Amino acid sequence: MADQLFERMALIGVGLIGSSIAHGARRQGLVGHISATARSAKTREIVAKQGIADSVFGSAAEAVAGADLIVVCAPVGVFKEIAAEIGPHLDPGAIITDVGSVKGSVLRDMAPSMPDGVHLVPGHPVAGTEYSGPESGFSELFEGRWCILTPPDGTDQAAIDRLTTFWQALGSKVEVMDAKHHDLVLAITSHLPHLIAYNIVGTADDLETVTETEVIKFSAGGFRDFTRIAASDPTMWRDVFLNNRDAVLEMLGRFNEDLSVLQHAIRDGDGDALSAFFNRTRDIRREIIDAGQEIDVTDFGRHEGAGDS
Ligand code: NAP
Repeated sequence: MADQLFERMALIGVGLIGSSIAHGARRQGLVGHISATARSAKTREIVAKQGIADSVFGSAAEAVAGADLIVVCAPVGVFKEIAAEIGPHLDPGAIITDVGSVKGSVLRDMAPSMPDGVHLVPGHPVAGTEYSGPESGFSELFEGRWCILTPPDGTDQAAIDRLTTFWQALGSKVEVMDAKHHDLVLAITSHLPHLIAYNIVGTADDLETVTETEVIKFSAGGFRDFTRIAASDPTMWRDVFLNNRDAVLEMLGRFNEDLSVLQHAIRDGDGDALSAFFNRTRDIRREIIDAGQEIDVTDFGRHEGAGDS
C-alpha cells in the first residue's frame, strides 16, 4: 500500500481504462473515495454492482462534486461536451486529467471550460488491450508501462508532481512531453499500426478468390496477430483518427513511400534490399524486448489480451 494521495477521485467513463484505474488506486490505497459516472445506465449498474466505485452518479456534474482528482476516461470525441458540463462544478485546486490516446485535442476541447484555480494536466497511459467495458479492467494494467503527461506551459508544478506520483503508484513510468510531440510519436507507434491492422483485416474480408474459411483456417501465418489489434473498440479508434488527423496523415504518407520501396524490390527480385530491410526491423523488436516492453517467448509473448494503445 502507498500513501493516500487524493481524498476523492471522480471517474468520467468506467471502461477498460477507468475501471483499471479504480482497481489499481484502491489496491494501493491512493484515494479515499471513488465516485463515477458512465454514459449508459447499464454500465453504471455494473460499476455499482461490482463495487468498482464507491458512488455512482447519473451525470458527470454530480460525479465531480467535491473531487480533488478527476480522470476523464471516455472516448476523446466527447471531451468537449464533458468539459463544458463539469467545468462549473469543479473545486478550486482540483487536478483534472484524462487518459485519451490523443493529446492536442484534449487541450483544445477542455482548456476553455476550465475555471481559474483548477489544474488541467492531460495524460495518456500507454497500456491497453483490445477489450472494452467496466468488466475488462484489472489493477496491473499499468505496471511497467509508460504514462505520458502533456501539461501546457505554465501548469502548476506541484499538480504535475502529484499526478506523476499517482501514476507511479499504479506501477507506471512517467514521461512529460509536449502534446504535439506526443501525437506525432503515438501516430507511428500506435495509431498507424491500428489503421494498418483494420485495413488488412478488411482487405482479407473483401477477397473473392480466398474464402473466409481459408482466412480463418490459415490465420496463424501472421493474419491472426492483426486481428487482435483490429478487434479494438470502434468508437475509441474512430475518435483517435478524427482527432489526430494531421500526424496520422503525415505518418501514412511516409508509410506509403516505404511500402512502394518494398513493392519495387519484390517486383525487381531484389533479395538484398528485402534482406537488409527485414534485418533492420528485426533489430527494432530486439530493442523493444530489451526495454522490457515485450517478453521474448513464443506467440509474441502475449498472455491473453495484453497489448498497448
Ligand atoms: P471503453 O472501455 O469503451 O470505456 C469508455 C467509457 O466511457 C465507458 O464507460 C462509456 O460509458 C464512457 N463514456 C462514453 N461517452 C461518455 C460520456 N459522454 N460521458 C460519460 N462517460 C462516457 O474505453 P477505454 O478503452 O477505457 O478507453 C477510454 C479512453 O482511454 C479513450 O479516450 C481511449 O483513447 C483511452 N485509451 C484507451 C486505451 C485502450 O487500449 N483501450 C489505452 C490508452 C488510452 P458506456 O459504457 O455507458 O458507453
